[in-house]
Amino acid sequence: MKIFKIKYTLGLLILMIAVSCGEKKSKAEKEAPKKWYKGNLHTHSYWSDGDEFPEVILDWYKSKDYQFMALSDHNTMADDEKWITIREDSIYQKGFQNYLNTYGKDWVTHKIDSGRTMVKLKTYEEYSHKVEKECEFLVIKSEEITDKFEDKHIHMNATNIQKKIEPMGGTSVANVMQNNLDQVLKQREDTGVPMIPHINHPNFYYSISLDDMISLNGERFFEVYNGHQMVQNMGDSTHISTENMWDLINISYLENNKPLMFGLATDDSHHYHKKGKSWSNAGRGWVMVQTDTLTAEALVLALEAGDFYSSTGVKLKTLKNKNNSISVEIQPETGVTYEITFIGIKKGESEAKTLKVVNDTQAEFNLTEDILFARCKITSSKLQDNPIENLLYEMAWTQPIVPSK
Ligand SMILES: [Zn+2]
Ligand SMILES: [Zn+2]
Repeated sequence: MKIFKIKYTLGLLILMIAVSCGEKKSKAEKEAPKKWYKGNLHTHSYWSDGDEFPEVILDWYKSKDYQFMALSDHNTMADDEKWITIREDSIYQKGFQNYLNTYGKDWVTHKIDSGRTMVKLKTYEEYSHKVEKECEFLVIKSEEITDKFEDKHIHMNATNIQKKIEPMGGTSVANVMQNNLDQVLKQREDTGVPMIPHINHPNFYYSISLDDMISLNGERFFEVYNGHQMVQNMGDSTHISTENMWDLINISYLENNKPLMFGLATDDSHHYHKKGKSWSNAGRGWVMVQTDTLTAEALVLALEAGDFYSSTGVKLKTLKNKNNSISVEIQPETGVTYEITFIGIKKGESEAKTLKVVNDTQAEFNLTEDILFARCKITSSKLQDNPIENLLYEMAWTQPIVPSK
């Protein structure tokens, strides 16, 4: 009875938010195509090992034209009481003064203890209400479920979870992943709220292998790009890149009748006071999701439908990724050129390869019957601001599709 009541209340709440966003639309807007929403699903704050207050981080992203955010701190949902001590270093002291000046002493709860400044962090309820703006800026509940197996770091984000998930551990890397993934799927089933687990940075200390990801059941997302400086997106002489992993996972998933794995770009930002390739800064990688309403439910469902692309700078005007055809149109910048590559695998072959390259601002690729799956990657001639590794140019990745039968 109690479960039913919670489920009903949550369902009603989601419906109310969706309706209230919808009601404000004019008739023309309702008939207009779906909108693009920019968001980052992987962010850290003072609630774990990030070095800034949630409100400051969220306001920064808001000012950079993001419409949704998830603060995914390690093993916390930011819903209890937590005090932090501001580090001695002047940049953090200055950061606190800026926080106090911007939000005011009525908002900021702090005290001086033995000469050190201690600050009470705002909870998810508090910070999300402070920064959210209906239909314009949304903060999604999230957690980075942070687990280990021996010396391997096994991190998995859970977007739009409603209740904290404790890392469950397990008997192998793959088993730990499956256990934590199952907890998210179970919570989804129990609450009726759409939520998604996604695998974080597999190459972080080379913790998660291709075979580990291939063995999973029920995982639909992983980070093809993560903006942290230690995650080795590109691999090295003995480890393959995340992008290479992506296609190999999907070859296996298709053979085993599993849904395709989608690739996310995220910041995994921790450092908000020092900038450069040695720091995990904000603004490096994001997703653009196409949907009609800015609600957590609509965004999760659109992600699951593959109605999104991942980006480190390249912006698309249109993306049609259905019915045996991938068609992209870039929103070009002056003086910048673009290489549009269609990557995929043909039946009977064991690895993905480039199927077509177009040097233009728009291109189309038709999936013929001999193709197993295909996706599109765009590389710009524009250098990315503040890149990591050797990923120097702005890019975008669309999601793979299979030919429809
Ligand atoms: Zn992590
Ligand atoms: Zn992280």
